[in-house]
Amino acid sequence: MRIKVLQGFSNTYIVHNQGEGLIVDPGNPFDGIGKQVEDLKINAIIITHGHFDHYIYLDDYKKRLGAPVYMNFKDRYLVDNAPSWVKEFFGISINYVPKLDYDLTEGMSIVVGGLSLKIIETPGHSPGSVSIIGPKFLITGDLVFEDGGIGRTDLPGGNDEELMNSIKRIIQFPDDYTVYPGHGNPFTVKDLKRWIPV
Ligand SMILES: [Zn+2]
Repeated sequence: MRIKVLQGFSNTYIVHNQGEGLIVDPGNPFDGIGKQVEDLKINAIIITHGHFDHYIYLDDYKKRLGAPVYMNFKDRYLVDNAPSWVKEFFGISINYVPKLDYDLTEGMSIVVGGLSLKIIETPGHSPGSVSIIGPKFLITGDLVFEDGGIGRTDLPGGNDEELMNSIKRIIQFPDDYTVYPGHGNPFTVKDLKRWIPV
């Protein structure tokens, strides 16, 4: 299984194995990844949480790839109400409300080229934030960042205690697991333990 990242507005990941793949967080223009998915059958588009910078280009991905869209529906109200709260918090107008196909919940599996990825719910940054667990890696959305920065909890539905509990959950994975965050560079669980002693 391999992971490619497109860094920009947020991190868009392509996870692929044996000719199949999935997209995580279509927050960057499709052109940036188009070539890299040419030979892949994309099984799913996953949105780690309901913040616009992680889904703003979704329609383009959906049109080009035809894959179903998964997000935890606890964040659906954030997506549906983005035009109002995003204006309030960021002063910008988002008039786009994406169409979601399936609820992505604790314990679900997404199969990519015969390998199974597992979903865990890691709330705090938002109520419906999820992480994706693969062989020796985690994709964690806006839970934690390089150098031990943690996800902000001042946006609607954010919760400090839940965020710390979710980080504790991630820290229990083996040291050599790579953590791929929603913004910035990857790091290991070992790094995370050093940065955030819990
Ligand atoms: Zn976010």
